[in-house]
Amino acid sequence: MIKYRLNCKSCGNIFDSWFSSSKEFEKLKKIKLINCNICNSLKIEKSIMSPRISQNKTINEEIPSKKINEVKSKIKEFQTYIKNNFEYVGKNFSYQARSIHYGNQKSKKGIYGSATKKDIKELKEEGIETSVIPWIQDKEN
Ligand SMILES: [Zn+2]
Repeated sequence: MIKYRLNCKSCGNIFDSWFSSSKEFEKLKKIKLINCNICNSLKIEKSIMSPRISQNKTINEEIPSKKINEVKSKIKEFQTYIKNNFEYVGKNFSYQARSIHYGNQKSKKGIYGSATKKDIKELKEEGIETSVIPWIQDKEN
């Protein structure tokens, strides 16, 4: 189905109508079955819908940078919370996580650090749950 905006050349009425195809529109017009719903005139033409690409482009450019800043500040808040409540273990993360899990090391605090995707997968297979969080380096700001 195609929706056309139709324009009556006689009275200036603009109305929408549905057609199964553009061919159907031409066919109905030829056999004089398309007429104005106000003045019954047969002088009906398809009006060209104005493209809205330029408008959308502006919107698309505005939203992301605003969104990114919002998300960044959320991450920053979260980072501060983690820094205050968790112990930083850096690249020893998977080692430390295992130590805590198997009870070799007693830690009241949770830990955070960096780990590769492979490390995380291996830890998960051993039943050690980890959370992957986005992290913004301080120097980025
Ligand atoms: Zn009309």
